[in-house]
Order: sequence, then structure tokens, then C-alpha cells
Amino acid sequence: MPKYNTYGLVMLIRSEDVKELLFQGSSDLMLYLDTFGRILKINKAGLAFSGFSEEEVIGKIFWKIPGVFLKRNVPKYLKVFKNTLTGKETKGFLGILNDKSGKAHLIEFSTYPIKENRKIKYVLVIGKDVSEQKETEEKYRLIGKYTSDLVALVTFTLNPTFTYVSPSHEKVLGYEPRDLIGKSIFDFIHPVDKKNMMFLLKKYVSVKAKKLLTGKNRDVTESLEFRFKDKSGNWRYMETTANMMGKEILAVSRDVTERKQAMKEVYKTVEKLKKSQRKIELQNIQLKKLDRIKSNFLSVTSHELRTPMSAIKGYMQMLLKQSLGEITEEQKQALKVILRNTTRLDNLIQDILDISRLESGTMKFLPEQTDLQKMIREISETMQSSADLKNIKINVDIEKGIPELTIDQGRIKQVLMNLVNNAIKFSPQRAVINIRAKREEDNVLFEVQDFGRGIPKDKQEKIFETFYQVESGKNMKFGGAGLGLSISRGIVLAHDGRIWVESTPGKGSTFKFNLPIQPMMDIENKFKKIDIFGLELKE
Ligand code: ADP
Repeated sequence: MPKYNTYGLVMLIRSEDVKELLFQGSSDLMLYLDTFGRILKINKAGLAFSGFSEEEVIGKIFWKIPGVFLKRNVPKYLKVFKNTLTGKETKGFLGILNDKSGKAHLIEFSTYPIKENRKIKYVLVIGKDVSEQKETEEKYRLIGKYTSDLVALVTFTLNPTFTYVSPSHEKVLGYEPRDLIGKSIFDFIHPVDKKNMMFLLKKYVSVKAKKLLTGKNRDVTESLEFRFKDKSGNWRYMETTANMMGKEILAVSRDVTERKQAMKEVYKTVEKLKKSQRKIELQNIQLKKLDRIKSNFLSVTSHELRTPMSAIKGYMQMLLKQSLGEITEEQKQALKVILRNTTRLDNLIQDILDISRLESGTMKFLPEQTDLQKMIREISETMQSSADLKNIKINVDIEKGIPELTIDQGRIKQVLMNLVNNAIKFSPQRAVINIRAKREEDNVLFEVQDFGRGIPKDKQEKIFETFYQVESGKNMKFGGAGLGLSISRGIVLAHDGRIWVESTPGKGSTFKFNLPIQPMMDIENKFKKIDIFGLELKE
């Protein structure tokens, strides 16, 4: 049996206490061989793992210990050993080692030449049991076979190459495993995404370094997105989860190109929508400007028109009263026609003026405490004369003890008169019209009921719009311009009330509006804020 170099061993121990500590404390198999391959020293982990006692192995040639290595593999190990003796390190060399009981272990060997007086005297062998790790890798390969996800193993270097790709790559990207195995991933990754990938790899390297230092088996999983060139040269978006697995990185990817493209389309549409929204907003501002100009124009012109109209009416009445001299019966009739039409014209101008004031928010409201009994009686008396022309009876029904309201009396009167006027207009001869008022919770509810022709359901909202009339063109036999109800609506809204109609065609209509009992503060300012004519964009 050849002798081993005791002197060298002693030197080793004496000079490197720390190393000894590391040597014995390591969980990896560690042994020192002399230049013949004889075992000079083996650590605890090595003994524990192999099942041999120190006596059984010390001084033996490593690869000649019976049963430990397969004979046919020995030349391979010998080559590595000789190579180390020339001064080269070997890292990550895989070999199968059987323990004393005959169980095989997959070992990742590294060998280091140790010099003494500048001459290589020993070889340090470190062996890592990677059996389990390799088993897991095998499992992944197996999973890769059956999953539609793209499973790949790449080497853990700064320029990773494929070591395994699942068959699913062919279906998704057109590559057979042999198109990719051994190639660098960067041959396929979009240059822009390469940066991110490098960043990740560097992070992995630092994690790996930490792992080596601390001995902690920290698992690192990262998600990333990148473009990968398929076999026909198109870029596909991949969403990948990467796991560090020893010397390799396991990547499980999914092709998300379709989803990405759909998202791009959505973004594009959103951008387009934003643009057109901006355009609409601009147009809206312009329209509002135009509208203001129109309202101002209307209010100025109609005001200017009313002044001469009063003079005309005044002189006409003087002529009719014959204060300016006698007139013939024929002249009187002609003057009456002129006066009637002038009054109609004046009313129309008055309505246009009201509309423009409501639209521009310049209508003046003068709230005052109002006795509703008195107000409604006055209205029915005023309206009775025109009702008489059709033999229509106006009934008034006001709940006892109805509270007083703080309202612009003139304007609310205008609303009620307009409703009664319409009721007369659309009622047959000898009909009845009911005016009612009662308290309803915090409001007073007003009603004007007729038994006329009624309003079709689909028109019941529309009639409150400016210039809207149910009858159009030739059917217009009732006169009017379709402004009365929109003015009424504006006035009621300004008082914080609501106006609507309930009607059955052929049976009649009941126009209703309510006003809050609580006096409104700051009626004009509030009024300016509401959009009475629905000019603002509705959803
Ligand atoms: P005008 O009466 O001057 O046409 P309004 O705004 O007061 O304008 O009314 C708008 C339209 O609503 C009328 O043209 C008519 O078609 C319908 N309408 C109003 N009141 C009644 C009613 N009491 N019965 C039936 N239809 C009515």
C-alpha cells in the first residue's frame, strides 16, 4: 500500500485552521487527494454520505474503492484528475457515486489543484449531491411534455442557452426542440427587451452568490414579459415565469400576443374617444357661445319690438274709442282685427323675450308672500271671459288652510294662466275645467284638469320643449308657437318645483306642478345654475 504524505497534511492543517473549519462544517462531500489520487483526508459530510468509516477510505485511491464508481466511468474521472494536476480547476462535472449500501447518487464534482512551494501537491475534491435537484428537473421535463404552456430550461449564465424546450413550442412558435437547443436565448429575444432580461440575469447571479455565502436555499421566481421571434420571423409577446434551479433557469411561458393586440386596440379606441370627446367639448363651448349670442340678440330685439308695439296698441284703442274722431262701423271692424293681431304679435314677442331671458338666466324673479286662495280666484275670474266664449265652466278647489308661499306671484300666475288657457283651447264646447291646489308633504300641488282631446304618451315630455306642438303644419288650428309650456317649465324649475302632465288621449289632461313650501333663498342664482332647456349633454 502506498504511503501518503503526512508532512503535507500536517502543513495543511497547521496553516489553514479556518479552512479546516469550513472543510468539516460543509454539507458537501470534501476530500483531499494526493498526486496519486489517494485519499488524504475526508470530511464528516463525506463519511456520513458515503457510509464508510475513515479507516475504510483513508490512503485508498479514490476511484479504486470497491463498489463506489462504475468501472467504465473511471477513465473519465482519471482524465479530470490529471487535468487538475496540470493546474486547471474543474467545475460542475457530473458523476454517479454509489454509497456503501449501493445506492447511487448524482454528484456534481468540482476539483481544485492545491499548491505547495509552487508545485501541485494535492487535489481538493468537492462533491455536491444533486440527485434530488436532477429529479425535479426531470419532472419539469415530463410536465413540459404534456402542458400547452411553453416550458424551457436554459443555462444559468449571462448568455443563457436552451437545454430543454417542451414540444408545445412547435405549435405556438413553430420551433422543434432541435431548432432551439444549444442556441442563445438572445438570438430570439427582441433587442429592446434584452435589457430587461440582462437586468434579471444579473439579479439572479447576485442571488446565487448570496445563496452560496449564506447557504440559504432562497427560491427566486420572477415574472417578465418580452417579445420572442417565432419561426416565421414574427414577434410574439411572451409572459414568463422564471425560476432559478441550480445551474439552470426554468422558464414557463405563455403566448399573450392576442391579448396584447386586443389591449392595443382598446387603447387606440380609448385615445380616439378621448380625441372626439375633446372635439365635442370644444364644439359645445362654441355652441354655448352661439346660444348666448342668440339669446342676447333675441332679448334685445324683442325688447326693442315691444316698445313701438305698445304705442301702436295705445293709438289703436284710442281710435276704437273714437277719441280721435268718429269712425265708420267697417273701419271699427277692421281696427278690431288689427288690434287682435297686434295683441297676438305682442304676446309672441313677450314669449320670445321670456324664453331668451330664461335661457340666458337673466329673468328677474321677485319673491313675495302669496295668498294662494286669492291668487287662484283672480286667475279664474280673469280667464272666465275667454272660457265663456266656449261656454266652459272653471271650477276652483283649494284645500282649506293651504299655506302661503313665497313666490314670484306674477310668474306663477303666468304659469297657471298658460295652463288654463291651453285647457280652454283644447276643450270642447260646454266643458268643465278644474283648478285645484293642495298641500302635499313639503310642497303645494297645483292641478289644471281638462276633459279635452288629451296628449299621446310619447308626446307628454316633448310638449315642454321650446316650439314643440303636437299638431304640425296644416293641422295647426289652435294658434300659439309652442312656447307657453317651456316658459312655464322654466319658471317652475326656477322655484325649485317640478311640472308634468298626466293624460289619456280622448279623455283629457291634468297638468300638475308643485312648489316647495320652504321659501327659496337666492332664487335667481339658483335658477341660473339649472339647465331648463336640457341644453347640457345628457348621458
Ligand atoms: P302652444 O299652446 O302655444 O302651442 P304650449 O307650449 O303651451 O304651446 O303647448 C305645446 C303643445 O302642447 C300644444 O301645441 C299642444 O299640442 C299641447 N298641449 C298643451 N296643453 C294641452 C292640453 N291641455 N290638451 C292637449 N294638448 C295640449
